[in-house]
Amino acid sequence: MRSVVIGSGPAGLIAARDLLARGDAVTVLEATDTVGGRVTSLELDGLTLDAGAESFATRSGAVATLCADLGLSVGPPAATPAWVVGPGRAYQLPATGWLGIPTRPLDKDVRKIIGSSAAVHASLEPHRPLGEIPDDITVGALVRARLGDEIAESLVAPVLQGVYSRHIDALQLADISPTLPAELREAGSLLKLAEVKRALSPAGSAVLGVEGGMWRLTSALAEAIRDGGGSIVTQAAADKLSYEDGAWRVDAGGGRVVGDRVVLATPLPDASLLVPGLPAFEPRKVAVVTLVLNAPELDGAPRGTGVLAVDGVTGAKALTHSTAKWPWLARMAKGRHVVRMSYALENLPADLDAGALADASRLLGVELSAANLRGSAARIWTDAAPVAVEDVNPQPGLYLVGSAAGLTGLANIAAAPAPWD
Ligand SMILES: Cc1cc2nc3c(=O)[nH]c(=O)nc-3n(C[C@H](O)[C@H](O)[C@H](O)COP(=O)(O)OP(=O)(O)OC[C@H]3O[C@@H](n4cnc5c(N)ncnc54)[C@H](O)[C@@H]3O)c2cc1C
Repeated sequence: MRSVVIGSGPAGLIAARDLLARGDAVTVLEATDTVGGRVTSLELDGLTLDAGAESFATRSGAVATLCADLGLSVGPPAATPAWVVGPGRAYQLPATGWLGIPTRPLDKDVRKIIGSSAAVHASLEPHRPLGEIPDDITVGALVRARLGDEIAESLVAPVLQGVYSRHIDALQLADISPTLPAELREAGSLLKLAEVKRALSPAGSAVLGVEGGMWRLTSALAEAIRDGGGSIVTQAAADKLSYEDGAWRVDAGGGRVVGDRVVLATPLPDASLLVPGLPAFEPRKVAVVTLVLNAPELDGAPRGTGVLAVDGVTGAKALTHSTAKWPWLARMAKGRHVVRMSYALENLPADLDAGALADASRLLGVELSAANLRGSAARIWTDAAPVAVEDVNPQPGLYLVGSAAGLTGLANIAAAPAPWD
């Protein structure tokens, strides 16, 4: 069979490798001039760094297995709870929590943040009747009513803002998982539900990284595909898909490729331009700003491995101190520091270096200036929450994988069954 894969992100490359192993003749078409999609690298100050994804969730085991198959070593990040920087204060999140909800509100580290009376009020939550929990309840309304404003604003909002880019008052409990309202009614208390969820998290690190960078995964997949006889064509944006005389025709980069099956592995908004009927929406854009710094003040990792910004404190919504987080990167950087910040596109500073240094200073609690800066880079990405796509095989011989199938994150993408099975 002739297979054409559109998109060379992790989903397209995983699909291509699988189809090659089944004996297909495989062509991967990639719109840009680089392979890897959102799992790719950038060069800064002589360092090769992750430009997009930097880790994977361990829950499915699928990414770790894939890495092992490809001969890549994986390792955990340094384990320190994230910091939060809010107006006038900075604090480390309590170690025991679920979605920022402290499972033990009376613990000292929680009381230090929210105060004793708020902690006592929250600790009594299981004794208060739950009342009615509508399916569309927002996290904000729920946490405020059950545990108080302090926990909502100081702990839950920063954590969920970092993950969902939405304030808790605009985020429904069901957006996190559709079954949560029912699970809460069943548990009878928000703290009890948090305890159950917390206990379900497996021991050990929830995420791992690839030694040398997550980009090595897509790079190794591309190499395996080429070694296996597949071809990857860059600067070949697919702009039309048609089915004629028993085969799929893909118009891309001014040429045409014919296949018996076509695998769409582009972000969903791009896929919806090629296949009518798929969910079409304006994608959210995020920017990742990476700084390489000479700053001995950061040697002690003053804010651990990462910081969440309370809405409005800085343009950046979160910061990762990458050299504090990844031991292999610290070794590679030889005393320099690598810091990554994520921004909603509209908040990206117009004067990138000055704005990013000011935001990094605020979030790290260390004064950084142009004298500390060895290099900076901004990369703009499509970012999308998972979307339900009903049929991943909408027409004979046409398959959707990865983001095109509504999936987000390497763990989900790698664990998804191949739709041609
Ligand atoms: C900043 C950022 C950080 C992230 N961090 C993590 C993380 O740490 N861990 C994690 O698990 N996930 C992370 N994610 C999510 C993860 O990167 C994505 O879920 C994953 O890359 C999706 O893979 P994909 O192959 O479906 O799509 P993509 O990686 O987006 O690849 C799609 C490819 O299709 C190409 N393409 C688009 N249109 C066409 C066309 N018409 N013709 C040909 N090619 C086309 C694109 O150029 C791209 O190369 C992050 C995402 C972002 C934006």
